[in-house]
Order: sequence, then C-alpha cells, then structure tokens
Amino acid sequence: MSDAETLFERIIAGEIPSDKVYEDATTYAFRDIAPQARVHVLVVPKKRYRNVGELAAADPQLLADVALAARKVAEIEGIAESGYRVVFNTDGDAGQTVFHVHAHVLGGEQLGHFGR
Ligand code: ADP
Repeated sequence: MSDAETLFERIIAGEIPSDKVYEDATTYAFRDIAPQARVHVLVVPKKRYRNVGELAAADPQLLADVALAARKVAEIEGIAESGYRVVFNTDGDAGQTVFHVHAHVLGGEQLGHFGR
C-alpha cells in the first residue's frame, strides 16, 4: 500500500473538519458528508489498513474495536434497538473510494434490501 495520506488521516488529525459522533483511543466516528440513510456514520480505526480483510489479518483486536465503536454509535444515535446496518465496502465493485478501512453505520429508517 502507498504511504500517501488518505482523506481520513486528515479528518482524524483535525486538518479537515468533521461532525464527530464518537471517539476513543483507537477509533474515530463522524457523520458521512453524503448520507445514504437518516443515520449514516463512518467508524474509522485511527491506524490505517486498506480494507477490512487486511485489518482482520493484521490486528483482530482493532477490528473488534471498530465493531464495538459501531455499536456505541448506534446507542448514541438511538438506533441500537430499532436496528442498523454495518458495511465495509472493499475495492472496485463495492465502490470503495477511500482506502483507509471504514465501517458505514446506517439506520434510523427501514433500509432497503442490499445487493444490486
Ligand atoms: P463510497 O464513496 O462509494 O461510499 P467508501 O466506502 O470508500 O465508498 O466510502 C467513503 C465515504 O466517505 C462516502 O460515503 C463519502 O460520502 C464519505 N466522505 C467523503 N468525504 C467526506 C468528508 N469530508 N466527510 C465525511 N464523509 C466523507
């Protein structure tokens, strides 16, 4: 992987403003700028891996931290009871555009079936 900074390093560093929802020692969560549901928050591990597979292989505890942060975001947003979706887009066909792994947390309304 190239060492070029991604957008999310700059957001975590506070160089680009973001609407923070939650932060802990290893993760940072903020509202997606182009929400695809009433609630749409991105959970990003502060340490960069390209995608969820690389994260899981290299640092399973950090993947668990991301999952727990997603649950925390759902509680903060009041959607833990109604249900929510956690998505990791990976590479081209999934439409990944930022190559710093991030979980999309989506909810706050009935979500459509996913796929095509
Ligand atoms: P896609 O762009 O196709 O959704 P990703 O899974 O890589 O692919 O998601 C990147 C997400 O980052 C997008 O949902 C996009 O709206 C969001 N995003 C891009 N720039 C910003 C920003 N400055 N602040 C918050 N969210 C952003």
